[in-house]
Amino acid sequence: MFNEELHMLTGLSAIVTGSTSGIGLGIAHVLASKGANLVINGFGDAAAIETERANLEATHGIKAVYSAADISKPDDVKAMIDLCATTYGAVDILVNNAGIQYTAAVEDFPAEKWNAILAINLSGIFWGIHYAIPYMKKKGFGRIINIGSVHGLVGSTHKAAYVAAKHGVVGMSKVVALENAGTGITCNTICPGWVHTPLVQKQIEDNAARDNISIEQATTNLLTEKQPSKQFVTPDQIGELAAFLASEAAAQMTGIAIPIDGGWTAQ
Ligand code: NAD
Repeated sequence: MFNEELHMLTGLSAIVTGSTSGIGLGIAHVLASKGANLVINGFGDAAAIETERANLEATHGIKAVYSAADISKPDDVKAMIDLCATTYGAVDILVNNAGIQYTAAVEDFPAEKWNAILAINLSGIFWGIHYAIPYMKKKGFGRIINIGSVHGLVGSTHKAAYVAAKHGVVGMSKVVALENAGTGITCNTICPGWVHTPLVQKQIEDNAARDNISIEQATTNLLTEKQPSKQFVTPDQIGELAAFLASEAAAQMTGIAIPIDGGWTAQ
């Protein structure tokens, strides 16, 4: 029997890191459409971010505030979590989405790229969880949703730092789930395959230049190589999965990594 209350997020607060672009922006819209108030975060042009923040409020009838936190800086992450608690009185949903990519062979991988990817894609998530858990414990409710990747489950060439960070997120999520089991706090990792965002567009353009082929051909090749559906996952689809994990219906789902990947990891 369908119970609408099991699926709604009305009155809950949600932080979505890296929500000025791509997947994070899609997740922010879906959570807001189900009634959650937002803390949005990420880099970009200040006027464009303000337009997006106001658009989220106007479209969905919720409240949205912006945090400029750099997720690679623990003090910034703490300020973002505290902003959510002071604005809304609780930190109900934390979506750790901000992430970057860099591709190179292991022996060519620049130290600063390794350090940046680990700082944002892994340590930033640790600090977000670290600072959010006390607020969640106080309320006896919390939903931690990490945006991992298929690269948290399998490897690909030239992505040593990214694959290491994403595997780390999957493992860390299990520990957070176990430490908080039965408290009302869950922690899970969504593992997307290819999603057509600026992060992937850059890889398509790099491949097109390397192989001297069109962007269209490079896009087809990218999908054909890894994703059996040969279709991109959309930010909205990931948002809907995040909303489900945030809902009462998913109260007993914790410590898992969920692929949404057009069959990539079924191979
Ligand atoms: P994107 O480049 O479109 O967006 C990244 C967002 O993170 C932007 O809002 C950016 O401003 C923000 N960001 C980057 N560094 C930051 C920092 N230090 N502090 C705060 N914000 C920061 O990328 P995307 O494709 O939407 O990726 C979002 C997440 O999804 C990442 O964790 C990525 O690894 C993951 N992912 C993407 C794909 C894909 O195919 N696009 C697949 C699997 C997983």
